[in-house]
Amino acid sequence: MKNSKVLRISVTDRCDLRCIYCMPEAGVPLVPMADMLSYEEIAMVARGAMAAGVRRFRLTGGEPLARRGVEALVRLLAALGPDDLALTTNGLHLADFAADLKAAGLMRVTVSLDTLRPDRFKAITRRTGLDRIPAGIEAARTAGLTPVKVNMVVIRGVNDDEVLDFVRFAGTEGVELRFIELMPTSGLTAECKELGAWRPALFVKSEEVRARIAEAFGPLERLPESDGVADMYLLGGRTRLGFIAPVSEPFCQGCGRLRLGPDGRLRICLFDRVGIDLRKMLREGQAGPSEIGAVITSAFEAKTTWERGAIESLSSDMFRIGG
Ligand code: SAM
Ligand code: SF4
Repeated sequence: MKNSKVLRISVTDRCDLRCIYCMPEAGVPLVPMADMLSYEEIAMVARGAMAAGVRRFRLTGGEPLARRGVEALVRLLAALGPDDLALTTNGLHLADFAADLKAAGLMRVTVSLDTLRPDRFKAITRRTGLDRIPAGIEAARTAGLTPVKVNMVVIRGVNDDEVLDFVRFAGTEGVELRFIELMPTSGLTAECKELGAWRPALFVKSEEVRARIAEAFGPLERLPESDGVADMYLLGGRTRLGFIAPVSEPFCQGCGRLRLGPDGRLRICLFDRVGIDLRKMLREGQAGPSEIGAVITSAFEAKTTWERGAIESLSSDMFRIGG
């Protein structure tokens, strides 16, 4: 079985989209550049994480491709020899970056995409650019950043009528599709009011999405593997579908993720509002990989007794911490 310990590294809180469930239209107060970890500091934390048994890293954001020179960070992380080095992106700039990211040592990408319709893309992301995303997926595939995964957040009355189109899209594009339940985030509430709906009304259980797919395309074969958070299925012996159900089927017990924010705060959960200030340790305490490793080991221990609380009471700055 794969080592489940993962460090998700949010490299920036900047983003060129304003997804209605993630980032308010007006943007958010940004972490000043001087307070963001440098790539060398991030690599130091990654070395500490490896000392604590982490073998898998994922870069996220904000939009990771919005931070200048992110390939340099990929190169530093790849040099540590991880088992997995992936990146989650909104795909807008993937076509420009895919080959360089691969050359720097990135192994694979996940593209977030919630609609295949241009007018709806504009309504969901409050920006344009859908036409650039298929080229990004194609460039990632050509560069060998595979398997390319596509994440769709399913929202009732917003894009849930596209679930079957996405399954067809996954089949023709040869990508692995993952359906994600809408989660409560600090960016979400006001935006959903803007949509004239309230949160529970927007929520679609993973189980319902699965049932709709099975009704249209026939039975799904449950696969034994899971990457820790997604239940995996095979459709038609070929198309891999994942279902991530943090709301209806919380997976805290099997979760091996720690999250490093752009400001150097280490969190044991998306809903951990406090975290540990690694930037202070790095800059004031001159901590090295072994001290950071000890903190990361304790953070994994803290996860074993972590209780995130009832979903209705949760919130998270997803735009900063990374999904
Ligand atoms: N900008 C990159 C992207 O969109 O892929 C990386 C950061 S984004 C915060 C990471 C993932 O979090 C995306 O797949 C996004 O759809 C997901 N996400 C953001 N807010 C969410 C919410 N309220 N519920 C579920 N997923 C959410
Ligand atoms: Fe940006 Fe990703 Fe959040 Fe959309 S989900 S606003 S692309 S960080």
